[in-house]
Amino acid sequence: MSVRVRFAPSPTGFVHIGSLRTALYNYLFAKKMGGKYILRVEDTDQSRFVEGAIEGMLKAMEWAGVKHDEGVMLNENDEIIQVGECGPYIQSQRLDIYKKYIKELLDKGHAYYCFCSKERLDKVREIQKSEGKVPKYDGLCRGLSKEEVEAKIAAGESYVIRLKLPANKEIKFNDIVRGPVSINTDDLDDQVLMKSDGFPTYHFAVVVDDHLMGITHVIRGEEWLPSTPKHVYLYEAFGWDAPTFVHLPNILNSQRKKLSKRHGDVAVEDFRKKGYLPEGLVNYVALVGWSPEDNRELFTLKELEEAFSLERVSKSGGVFDTDKLNWVNAHY
Ligand code: GLU
Repeated sequence: MSVRVRFAPSPTGFVHIGSLRTALYNYLFAKKMGGKYILRVEDTDQSRFVEGAIEGMLKAMEWAGVKHDEGVMLNENDEIIQVGECGPYIQSQRLDIYKKYIKELLDKGHAYYCFCSKERLDKVREIQKSEGKVPKYDGLCRGLSKEEVEAKIAAGESYVIRLKLPANKEIKFNDIVRGPVSINTDDLDDQVLMKSDGFPTYHFAVVVDDHLMGITHVIRGEEWLPSTPKHVYLYEAFGWDAPTFVHLPNILNSQRKKLSKRHGDVAVEDFRKKGYLPEGLVNYVALVGWSPEDNRELFTLKELEEAFSLERVSKSGGVFDTDKLNWVNAHY
C-alpha cells in the first residue's frame, strides 16, 4: 500500500511554526516513502474562518518549499485551485458527502438526533460539575423513538447528531510516538458529529475525509491525541480500517511552555519578515522534535528527505531555541 499523508490546516489566522513543522514532517515522510502528500482545508467551523487565511497559508508553504502533491493550491494569479482525484479538498465544499455518511451512521444505529437546548446542556453540566464529575452529555435523547424524532423535526426543532458510544468498551490504538493507547468509552462523551447548521464537526469530517482520501498515516499535533479514540471508534462503526497515528509533541519555548504568540514570534510570516532564509528555518524546525542518527545539524531539504524517519521523532516536547535557529540560518 502506498503512503498517503495530509496536512489539514484550519484557515483561522497566521501559520504557526508548529504547523510548518507538522506540514514538513508529513512532506518528509511522504518523500522518504515514495508516497503522496495532500493539503486539505478544514473550514467546518465557519465562525473561526479568517478571510485570506488559506492564501496566506499556501504562500507560507510555498516560501518554505514544502510542496504538496494534491489538494488546495494557488495558480499563477494567486487564485485558489484544487488538484487531485479525491477532491474537493475544502471541507465546506463536501457537505453532501458528510450528509451521506451521517445517514449511514444513523441507519446503523451508531448515531442519534439530539434536540437538547443549550440552556439544558449548560444546566446538566453545572450539576455534574457540582457533583465533582467530568461534564458530559447525559444521553437524554438517546432513547427517542423514530416517531418522536420525526415529529420534532417536522415541528422545526433544531437538532445536532451525536455519536452513540457503547457503554464500557475499551478503545485501543497504537501511536507511533506514544505507543499503545487505551481508553474506556465510559470516559468519553457522545461527541456531536453534525451541528445544527448542517456542518459536520471536525471529528466527523476528519474521519470521513481521511478515509475517502486514502490517508495511511495521520501525522498531527499532540493536542489531537485525546480526540483520537473517538475517531478510532468512528472507523470501527463504519467498518473502515483506521490509519496509523503519529502525534507530534508540542514545540516549547525556553521556559518549556507551549510556544505561543504571547512570548514572541511564532508565525512563519514573522520569520520571513525578519529575513530568515526558508532553508534555514526549515532545517531548524525539522530538528525541533526529531533527531537524525548522527549529531548532524545542517541539512538541505533533499538531505532531510533521505534522513527523516518517524521512529526518531522525540516523545517529549522540542524546545525552540532562537540562538540555534540563528546559527543554522547563518550557514545558508
Ligand atoms: N484542522 C486541524 C488543525 O488545524 C487539523 C487536525 C488534524 O490534522 O487532524 O489543527
